[in-house]
Amino acid sequence: MEVPEAANVRVRIAPSPTGFAHLGTASTALYNVLFARQSRGTFALRIDDTDQERNRPEYEQLIYESLGWLGLNWDEGPDRGGPYAPYRQSERVDLYRQYAAKLLADGKAYKCFCTAEELEAERRQAQFEKRPYKYSRRCLIDPPKDRTEFAVRFKVPGGEVKFKDMIRGEMVFDADLIGDFILMKSDGFPTYQFASPVDDAAMKISHVIRGEEHLSNTPYQLMIIDALAYERPVAYAHMPLILAKDGAKLSKRKHPESNLMLYREQGYLPEALINYLALLGWNPGTPQEIFTFDELVKVFSFDRVQHAGARFDWEKLNWINGEWIRAMDDAELVRRLRPFLPDLDDATIMRAVPALKTRMVKLADAVPLLDYLWTDPEPPVLEPDAIDRIKAAFAAIQDVRWEPEPLHEALTRVADESGVSRNKTFMPIRLSLTGKKISLPIDYTLALLPKDVAMQRLRRVAG
Ligand code: GLU
Repeated sequence: MEVPEAANVRVRIAPSPTGFAHLGTASTALYNVLFARQSRGTFALRIDDTDQERNRPEYEQLIYESLGWLGLNWDEGPDRGGPYAPYRQSERVDLYRQYAAKLLADGKAYKCFCTAEELEAERRQAQFEKRPYKYSRRCLIDPPKDRTEFAVRFKVPGGEVKFKDMIRGEMVFDADLIGDFILMKSDGFPTYQFASPVDDAAMKISHVIRGEEHLSNTPYQLMIIDALAYERPVAYAHMPLILAKDGAKLSKRKHPESNLMLYREQGYLPEALINYLALLGWNPGTPQEIFTFDELVKVFSFDRVQHAGARFDWEKLNWINGEWIRAMDDAELVRRLRPFLPDLDDATIMRAVPALKTRMVKLADAVPLLDYLWTDPEPPVLEPDAIDRIKAAFAAIQDVRWEPEPLHEALTRVADESGVSRNKTFMPIRLSLTGKKISLPIDYTLALLPKDVAMQRLRRVAG
């Protein structure tokens, strides 16, 4: 694919701080960052906070925090400044007002005095006549004389709107089907449909990379850019929607996987989530599945992005996360596990790491695997033959070095001599030490506990 001249590429995301940080925001940010880094361009973060009622500063913080956690760093933004500041749309309202006034003066927009009820009646009439609704242009043709409150409406010029989509190719929309739409609401605030192209143009955005749900907005926004005699972005890219496993659109309310912070809380590695998000909607054309960010910068291209929606797949994410965990340097893994295990010191975590690597899908899994180290589990009630196996094990490990390897040797010998399976031999020991049926491999389960504590837990069950 042709890569535009370096340094001229400017891309942006424009998330709205109206709820928790969304998985889709991370995915869109990733594709923007990859493209920006490939072309040595600039990635800007613009906060789309024109929805006065639903914005919250704490949601804006969550956007910074979650993108920062993923390492998707922006070059310009509200917290960072930049040549096109301010980057918060609520601080740019004067600009939108000026542009709306210009469009009014040029006859490219007009004041609309219609009330919500009047518009609703028009809409119902269209529905009744079974024709698609378009504003009647009543206020353009015959504006009422006695009203003062108005919105600013764009006078859609009609004709064809064409643009290049880096994923879908040449797009053509028939603007004759688009009714005149609102640019500024009667409260003096812009609509998304107006603020977004004004800013894309004013901030010299060269490529607009965003979710597919915005594909139908693009002709609206290009007409505004044209009306303001701005230069259009070079191209757009509308990324496939992320869908839930059952094919439904990911919803903030119904699908926990849409909440970006959840991945951090459960201990998905940012590297693994980036890796997964890249493959969700794009494929490299080779069997490779594990990619570092730098590798993605090298191989990502929009021509391998799929058109259809991309279904979220926990199994695949878990596999990728497990691969990243297993490949991680032990000391680094200790550092990542640290916040999940406040009750353990680094040396203990380090000793557990080789065993954890074989069992952990995500960092939070370490907690139920290790909590027997800082709690005292209830002793189990066991059958007499299970108690006999504990007694045999007790005798066999009494004098061995308190390390996984010699413990492993001693215990497998006990199992092999007992005539029952290793699993059956180790289960009562596991239960006595941890209170659970699932634990780390038995040698590590023992070795991680101080010897006296382990022996005491066995003794109190086996007597
Ligand atoms: N605030 C919009 C969103 O989050 C921005 C869309 C755009 O990129 O233009 O979906």
